Amino acid sequence: MHLLNADLHSHSNVSDGTLTPEALAQRAFDKGVELWSLTDHDELGGQHRARDAALALGLPYLAGTEISVSFAGETVHIIGLGVDPDDAGLQAGLAATRSGRRERAQQMAAGLAAVGIEGSFEGALRYVGNPALISRTHFARYLVETGVCEDTYAVFRRYLTQGKPGYVEHRWARLGDAVRWIRQAGGEAVIAHPARYRFSPTAEYALFTEFTAHGGRGVEVMTGSHSAAEQQRYAGTALEFGLLASRGSDFHSPEESRVDLGSLPDLPGKLQPVWGALQHRVQQSSRRKPEVS
Ligand code: AMP
Ligand code: MN
Ligand code: MN
Ligand code: MN
Repeated sequence: MHLLNADLHSHSNVSDGTLTPEALAQRAFDKGVELWSLTDHDELGGQHRARDAALALGLPYLAGTEISVSFAGETVHIIGLGVDPDDAGLQAGLAATRSGRRERAQQMAAGLAAVGIEGSFEGALRYVGNPALISRTHFARYLVETGVCEDTYAVFRRYLTQGKPGYVEHRWARLGDAVRWIRQAGGEAVIAHPARYRFSPTAEYALFTEFTAHGGRGVEVMTGSHSAAEQQRYAGTALEFGLLASRGSDFHSPEESRVDLGSLPDLPGKLQPVWGALQHRVQQSSRRKPEVS
Protein backbone atom coordinates (compact mmCIF):
# COMPACT_ATOMS: atom_id res chain seq x y z
CA MET A 1 0.00 0.00 0.00
CA HIS A 2 1.27 3.47 -0.82
CA LEU A 3 1.39 5.74 2.22
CA LEU A 4 1.18 9.44 1.50
CA ASN A 5 4.54 11.21 1.67
CA ALA A 6 3.35 13.86 4.13
CA ASP A 7 5.84 16.35 5.57
CA LEU A 8 4.01 18.43 8.16
CA HIS A 9 6.85 20.24 9.92
CA SER A 10 9.24 22.71 8.27
CA HIS A 11 10.58 26.25 8.66
CA SER A 12 11.13 29.15 6.28
CA ASN A 13 13.01 32.42 6.79
CA VAL A 14 9.80 33.84 8.26
CA SER A 15 11.06 32.07 11.40
CA ASP A 16 14.42 30.30 11.71
CA GLY A 17 14.72 28.48 8.38
CA THR A 18 16.99 29.78 5.64
CA LEU A 19 14.76 29.33 2.56
CA THR A 20 11.84 31.51 1.53
CA PRO A 21 8.38 29.92 1.68
CA GLU A 22 8.47 29.70 -2.13
CA ALA A 23 11.86 27.97 -2.25
CA LEU A 24 10.73 25.57 0.46
CA ALA A 25 7.58 24.68 -1.50
CA GLN A 26 9.73 23.97 -4.55
CA ARG A 27 12.11 21.82 -2.53
CA ALA A 28 9.24 19.87 -0.94
CA PHE A 29 7.82 19.24 -4.41
CA ASP A 30 11.21 18.21 -5.82
CA LYS A 31 11.80 15.80 -2.94
CA GLY A 32 8.50 14.01 -3.58
CA VAL A 33 6.39 15.43 -0.75
CA GLU A 34 2.69 14.83 -1.43
CA LEU A 35 1.19 16.85 1.43
CA TRP A 36 3.16 19.73 2.88
CA SER A 37 2.91 22.14 5.79
CA LEU A 38 5.05 25.17 6.62
CA THR A 39 5.11 25.43 10.43
CA ASP A 40 7.09 28.55 11.31
CA HIS A 41 7.67 29.19 15.02
CA ASP A 42 4.98 31.42 16.55
CA GLU A 43 4.21 32.89 13.11
CA LEU A 44 1.67 32.73 10.30
CA GLY A 45 3.34 35.39 8.14
CA GLY A 46 4.51 32.91 5.51
CA GLN A 47 1.27 30.97 5.16
CA HIS A 48 -0.29 32.63 2.14
CA ARG A 49 3.00 32.60 0.26
CA ALA A 50 3.57 28.92 1.10
CA ARG A 51 0.06 27.95 0.06
CA ASP A 52 0.18 29.91 -3.19
CA ALA A 53 3.55 28.42 -4.12
CA ALA A 54 2.43 24.89 -3.22
CA LEU A 55 -0.81 25.13 -5.15
CA ALA A 56 0.98 26.50 -8.20
CA LEU A 57 3.08 23.32 -8.13
CA GLY A 58 0.04 21.09 -7.60
CA LEU A 59 1.29 20.23 -4.10
CA PRO A 60 -1.52 19.81 -1.53
CA TYR A 61 -1.06 22.11 1.46
CA LEU A 62 -2.07 22.31 5.12
CA ALA A 63 -1.58 25.65 6.90
CA GLY A 64 0.53 25.29 10.05
CA THR A 65 2.49 26.83 12.88
CA GLU A 66 4.70 25.62 15.76
CA ILE A 67 3.87 27.29 19.06
CA SER A 68 6.41 27.69 21.87
CA VAL A 69 4.89 26.62 25.20
CA SER A 70 6.26 26.52 28.75
CA PHE A 71 5.28 23.37 30.62
CA ALA A 72 6.75 22.02 33.87
CA GLY A 73 9.94 24.06 33.49
CA GLU A 74 10.61 23.00 29.89
CA THR A 75 9.92 24.55 26.50
CA VAL A 76 7.52 22.32 24.58
CA HIS A 77 6.53 22.85 20.95
CA ILE A 78 2.93 22.37 19.87
CA ILE A 79 2.21 22.17 16.15
CA GLY A 80 -1.09 23.47 14.82
CA LEU A 81 -2.10 21.87 11.52
CA GLY A 82 -4.94 22.87 9.24
CA VAL A 83 -5.43 26.21 10.99
CA ASP A 84 -7.04 29.23 9.35
CA PRO A 85 -4.05 31.60 8.97
CA ASP A 86 -6.39 34.59 9.14
CA ASP A 87 -7.96 33.59 12.46
CA ALA A 88 -7.80 36.65 14.76
CA GLY A 89 -7.55 34.67 18.01
CA LEU A 90 -4.66 32.54 16.81
CA GLN A 91 -2.89 35.60 15.40
CA ALA A 92 -3.25 37.47 18.70
CA GLY A 93 -2.00 34.48 20.67
CA LEU A 94 1.05 34.11 18.45
CA ALA A 95 1.79 37.85 18.60
CA ALA A 96 1.77 37.65 22.41
CA THR A 97 4.00 34.55 22.31
CA ARG A 98 6.53 36.32 20.03
CA SER A 99 6.55 39.57 21.94
CA GLY A 100 9.44 38.99 24.35
CA ARG A 101 11.90 37.65 21.77
CA ARG A 102 13.84 40.85 21.18
CA GLU A 103 14.52 41.53 24.88
CA ARG A 104 15.40 37.89 25.35
CA ALA A 105 17.89 38.16 22.48
CA GLN A 106 19.49 41.22 24.09
CA GLN A 107 19.90 39.26 27.33
CA MET A 108 21.37 36.34 25.41
CA ALA A 109 23.88 38.69 23.81
CA ALA A 110 24.79 40.07 27.24
CA GLY A 111 25.39 36.52 28.50
CA LEU A 112 27.62 35.78 25.52
CA ALA A 113 29.49 39.10 25.93
CA ALA A 114 30.27 38.06 29.51
CA VAL A 115 32.29 35.13 28.14
CA GLY A 116 34.02 37.29 25.54
CA ILE A 117 31.70 36.95 22.53
CA GLU A 118 30.91 40.51 21.52
CA GLY A 119 28.33 41.88 19.12
CA SER A 120 26.17 38.77 18.88
CA PHE A 121 22.85 40.65 18.96
CA GLU A 122 23.74 42.64 15.84
CA GLY A 123 25.39 39.55 14.38
CA ALA A 124 22.31 37.38 14.89
CA LEU A 125 20.09 40.10 13.42
CA ARG A 126 21.95 39.78 10.13
CA TYR A 127 20.48 36.29 9.78
CA VAL A 128 16.95 37.27 10.74
CA GLY A 129 14.36 37.32 7.97
CA ASN A 130 11.57 38.53 10.26
CA PRO A 131 12.47 41.12 12.93
CA ALA A 132 9.67 39.79 15.18
CA LEU A 133 11.27 36.38 15.24
CA ILE A 134 14.85 36.50 16.41
CA SER A 135 15.67 33.02 17.69
CA ARG A 136 18.54 31.03 19.13
CA THR A 137 19.11 29.57 15.67
CA HIS A 138 20.11 33.02 14.36
CA PHE A 139 22.69 33.35 17.15
CA ALA A 140 23.95 29.87 16.30
CA ARG A 141 24.50 30.86 12.65
CA TYR A 142 26.42 33.96 13.69
CA LEU A 143 28.67 31.96 16.05
CA VAL A 144 29.42 29.50 13.26
CA GLU A 145 30.16 32.34 10.83
CA THR A 146 32.61 33.92 13.25
CA GLY A 147 34.36 30.60 13.86
CA VAL A 148 33.41 30.26 17.53
CA CYS A 149 31.98 26.81 16.78
CA GLU A 150 32.14 24.41 13.88
CA ASP A 151 28.40 23.91 13.42
CA THR A 152 25.10 25.03 14.89
CA TYR A 153 24.71 21.85 16.95
CA ALA A 154 27.98 22.63 18.75
CA VAL A 155 26.79 26.20 19.42
CA PHE A 156 23.65 24.93 21.11
CA ARG A 157 25.62 22.44 23.16
CA ARG A 158 28.20 24.94 24.36
CA TYR A 159 26.34 28.24 24.51
CA LEU A 160 22.58 28.17 24.01
CA THR A 161 21.08 25.45 26.21
CA GLN A 162 20.12 25.51 29.88
CA GLY A 163 23.05 26.39 32.12
CA LYS A 164 25.17 27.77 29.24
CA PRO A 165 26.25 31.44 28.93
CA GLY A 166 23.82 32.47 26.17
CA TYR A 167 20.77 30.74 27.61
CA VAL A 168 17.97 32.92 28.98
CA GLU A 169 14.93 31.48 30.74
CA HIS A 170 11.79 32.54 28.92
CA ARG A 171 8.08 32.29 29.60
CA TRP A 172 6.22 31.14 26.48
CA ALA A 173 2.52 30.39 25.97
CA ARG A 174 0.53 28.10 28.26
CA LEU A 175 -0.26 24.62 26.98
CA GLY A 176 -4.03 25.02 27.29
CA ASP A 177 -3.96 28.39 25.49
CA ALA A 178 -1.91 27.07 22.58
CA VAL A 179 -4.23 24.09 22.06
CA ARG A 180 -7.28 26.32 22.31
CA TRP A 181 -5.96 28.87 19.77
CA ILE A 182 -5.27 26.06 17.32
CA ARG A 183 -8.64 24.38 17.74
CA GLN A 184 -10.56 27.64 17.53
CA ALA A 185 -8.74 28.36 14.27
CA GLY A 186 -10.09 25.08 12.89
CA GLY A 187 -6.91 23.03 13.26
CA GLU A 188 -5.59 20.07 15.21
CA ALA A 189 -2.86 20.30 17.86
CA VAL A 190 0.13 17.96 17.76
CA ILE A 191 2.98 17.55 20.29
CA ALA A 192 6.21 18.15 18.33
CA HIS A 193 9.34 15.95 18.72
CA PRO A 194 8.45 14.56 22.19
CA ALA A 195 11.83 12.86 22.66
CA ARG A 196 13.55 16.26 22.76
CA TYR A 197 12.14 17.26 26.14
CA ARG A 198 14.05 16.39 29.28
CA PHE A 199 11.05 15.30 31.31
CA SER A 200 10.83 12.76 34.08
CA PRO A 201 8.38 9.95 33.26
CA THR A 202 5.87 11.65 35.57
CA ALA A 203 6.17 15.05 33.89
CA GLU A 204 5.92 13.47 30.43
CA TYR A 205 2.80 11.60 31.49
CA ALA A 206 1.37 14.89 32.77
CA LEU A 207 2.14 16.58 29.43
CA PHE A 208 0.28 13.95 27.41
CA THR A 209 -2.60 13.79 29.92
CA GLU A 210 -3.12 17.56 30.05
CA PHE A 211 -2.64 17.92 26.29
CA THR A 212 -5.39 15.40 25.53
CA ALA A 213 -7.62 16.91 28.26
CA HIS A 214 -7.33 20.28 26.45
CA GLY A 215 -8.39 18.64 23.19
CA GLY A 216 -4.97 17.99 21.65
CA ARG A 217 -5.24 15.16 19.13
CA GLY A 218 -1.80 14.26 17.79
CA VAL A 219 1.84 13.45 18.45
CA GLU A 220 4.79 13.64 16.10
CA VAL A 221 6.17 10.12 15.85
CA MET A 222 8.38 10.43 12.77
CA THR A 223 10.49 13.59 12.96
CA GLY A 224 14.02 14.64 12.09
CA SER A 225 15.36 14.50 15.64
CA HIS A 226 13.96 11.08 16.64
CA SER A 227 16.08 7.94 16.61
CA ALA A 228 14.50 4.67 15.46
CA ALA A 229 14.05 3.68 19.11
CA GLU A 230 12.33 7.00 19.83
CA GLN A 231 10.03 6.57 16.83
CA GLN A 232 8.98 3.21 18.27
CA ARG A 233 8.61 4.56 21.75
CA TYR A 234 6.27 7.39 20.71
CA ALA A 235 4.32 5.11 18.42
CA GLY A 236 3.52 3.30 21.67
CA THR A 237 2.61 6.59 23.38
CA ALA A 238 0.26 7.47 20.49
CA LEU A 239 -1.56 4.16 20.98
CA GLU A 240 -1.58 4.51 24.77
CA PHE A 241 -3.19 7.98 24.66
CA GLY A 242 -5.35 7.37 21.60
CA LEU A 243 -3.52 10.08 19.64
CA LEU A 244 -3.20 10.53 15.90
CA ALA A 245 0.35 10.33 14.56
CA SER A 246 2.24 12.95 12.57
CA ARG A 247 5.30 12.92 10.35
CA GLY A 248 7.51 15.94 9.64
CA SER A 249 11.18 16.50 8.92
CA ASP A 250 11.52 19.77 10.91
CA PHE A 251 13.63 20.94 7.96
CA HIS A 252 15.35 24.32 8.48
CA SER A 253 18.15 24.58 5.95
CA PRO A 254 19.95 22.60 3.22
CA GLU A 255 23.26 23.33 5.01
CA GLU A 256 22.16 22.46 8.54
CA SER A 257 19.32 19.96 8.58
CA ARG A 258 20.19 16.29 8.87
CA VAL A 259 16.87 15.12 7.47
CA ASP A 260 15.56 16.55 4.22
CA LEU A 261 11.96 17.28 3.29
CA GLY A 262 9.97 14.15 2.48
CA SER A 263 12.71 11.69 3.41
CA LEU A 264 11.54 10.19 6.73
CA PRO A 265 10.36 6.58 6.95
CA ASP A 266 6.60 6.03 6.79
CA LEU A 267 4.50 6.02 9.93
CA PRO A 268 4.14 2.52 11.41
CA GLY A 269 1.02 0.95 9.90
CA LYS A 270 -0.77 0.51 13.23
CA LEU A 271 -1.02 4.29 13.72
CA GLN A 272 -3.73 6.65 12.49
CA PRO A 273 -2.18 9.53 10.52
CA VAL A 274 -3.24 12.99 11.69
CA TRP A 275 -3.86 14.09 8.10
CA GLY A 276 -6.76 11.59 7.95
CA ALA A 277 -8.60 13.90 10.37
CA LEU A 278 -7.64 17.03 8.40
CA GLN A 279 -8.74 16.17 4.89
CA HIS A 280 -11.35 18.94 4.94
CA ARG A 281 -8.55 21.45 5.70
CA VAL A 282 -6.20 20.43 2.87
CA GLN A 283 -5.86 23.04 0.15
CA GLN A 284 -5.47 21.79 -3.38
CA SER A 285 -5.45 23.34 -6.79
CA SER A 286 -8.47 22.23 -8.79
CA ARG A 287 -7.03 19.91 -11.39
CA ARG A 288 -7.38 21.41 -14.83
CA LYS A 289 -7.27 19.26 -17.89
CA PRO A 290 -4.55 20.38 -20.29
CA GLU A 291 -6.10 22.67 -22.83
CA VAL A 292 -6.18 21.39 -26.38
CA SER A 293 -6.47 24.05 -29.00
P1 AMP B 1 14.11 29.52 20.18
O1 AMP B 1 12.67 29.45 19.75
O2 AMP B 1 14.72 30.86 19.96
O3 AMP B 1 14.31 29.02 21.59
O4 AMP B 1 14.93 28.54 19.22
C1 AMP B 1 14.55 27.20 19.13
C2 AMP B 1 15.12 26.61 17.86
O5 AMP B 1 16.50 26.36 18.01
C3 AMP B 1 14.52 25.25 17.53
O6 AMP B 1 13.34 25.38 16.82
C4 AMP B 1 15.59 24.63 16.70
O7 AMP B 1 15.51 25.10 15.37
C5 AMP B 1 16.85 25.18 17.31
N1 AMP B 1 17.44 24.26 18.31
C6 AMP B 1 17.05 24.09 19.58
N2 AMP B 1 17.85 23.22 20.23
C7 AMP B 1 18.78 22.83 19.34
C8 AMP B 1 19.90 21.95 19.37
N3 AMP B 1 20.23 21.31 20.50
N4 AMP B 1 20.62 21.81 18.26
C9 AMP B 1 20.31 22.48 17.13
N5 AMP B 1 19.26 23.32 17.02
C10 AMP B 1 18.51 23.49 18.11
MN1 MN C 1 13.57 26.03 14.73
MN1 MN D 1 10.51 22.44 17.56
MN1 MN E 1 10.36 22.94 14.20
